[in-house]
Amino acid sequence: MPFADILGHDRIIEVLRRSLLSGKTAHSYLFEGVPGCGRKKTALSLIQALFCTALPDDACGVCTSCRKIEGGNHPDVHLLSPLPDKRDISIDQLREMQRELSLRPYESPRKVCIIDPAERLNVNSANSLLKTLEEPPGNALIILLTENAGMLLSTVRSRCQLMRFAPLSHEHIATLLERCGMTPEAAALVAPMSGGSLQKALELDNEALIARREAVLSRIEQMSIHHISSVFNASEELSGNRESTLELLDMLISFFRDAVHLGAGSGDIVNRSLRPAIESIAARRSFPRNLELLERIYETRRDVQRNANPKLALDQLFMAMGVNIK
Ligand SMILES: [Zn+2]
Repeated sequence: MPFADILGHDRIIEVLRRSLLSGKTAHSYLFEGVPGCGRKKTALSLIQALFCTALPDDACGVCTSCRKIEGGNHPDVHLLSPLPDKRDISIDQLREMQRELSLRPYESPRKVCIIDPAERLNVNSANSLLKTLEEPPGNALIILLTENAGMLLSTVRSRCQLMRFAPLSHEHIATLLERCGMTPEAAALVAPMSGGSLQKALELDNEALIARREAVLSRIEQMSIHHISSVFNASEELSGNRESTLELLDMLISFFRDAVHLGAGSGDIVNRSLRPAIESIAARRSFPRNLELLERIYETRRDVQRNANPKLALDQLFMAMGVNIK
């Protein structure tokens, strides 16, 4: 895949292309970021660019080498992951990879191995990898993918060039989902729930998500200023573990963002199929009040992410939403 097809990681790609042009790519990279944000695609594009017979700093996508890498059957490109049903990447797997890297490349200037996810290296295999990272046999290139570099041995970390991949923006996720054939409305709905991961976005069950979105909307609409218990009941019902609460808050953010858009006179909203309910949110409170609540939901999301108790955080948010109407 040419670098131009990778969304959201321009700075990293710029650095990689410069190193390709100057012939100074590192021997080992550590790509850190949420799974599904583009780490592996970038790694594969880097390898394609490195081996490409047509272009010096990108993948042409059509030469034999580019096509073999795209098809996952290039003899000099190896992927090291835990075996099915196994938690760790075992020392045996690592030794096998080291043996492979010590052989002469079949058809490229160097051999490459992607280790995914690197946090699954157990202590023995990580220690054994150190030797390879220090003296890569035959100019081999090793790319480690991880969700969190802090989970790796510091000795492994320090031997790699670290590249931090940010989660993808909602807009980029939506674009990629549409490229996968999703309708724009479904893509706009799923993108904010994806945590910046295309993989997660694709896994989200669209229909279940639509049903939950409707249930959440009607639940918050039922909260009443006159019945404080309805506020606590709603937060009791809707809060769950941290992750599901964050998902709920993302939904609320998308509702209130739409309501603010409507209030500002823009007809362009994400939750088009829920338009009447969104209009009712917009009409129920003043425009500045909805804006304030939107900010308040963002704040609650940050708190829950930073370990606030999900139920208590929702209690407070729903009090603000339910009690201060107008
Ligand atoms: Zn090529």
